[in-house]
Amino acid sequence: MKEVYTDHDLARLGYFKTVLDEADIPNLIRHESLYNLAVPFAVMPSLCVRDDEDYDRALELLRSHAESPPVTGADWLCASCGEAVPASFDSCWKCGAVRAEV
Ligand SMILES: [Zn+2]
Repeated sequence: MKEVYTDHDLARLGYFKTVLDEADIPNLIRHESLYNLAVPFAVMPSLCVRDDEDYDRALELLRSHAESPPVTGADWLCASCGEAVPASFDSCWKCGAVRAEV
């Protein structure tokens, strides 16, 4: 397992996770629950690839997406938890609720 990206911003991590998912790169977000529990800045959540051999490809993907974030519309608000979710998401990154209407 290798860490490819670390950020306080879980929305951004969630977005990058989607990027890796779409590329069929096995991945996971580490420390997410710990971070939510309460030790701000002690442990940063991070996005990791499960297979080290995917590392270079993952980095390349994330880099290209970071430089040109897709603009597919405005953020939408989750009906379940009220979180602002990037337009490219079909479900809430935070609570997993499916987007109500488009
Ligand atoms: Zn939600």
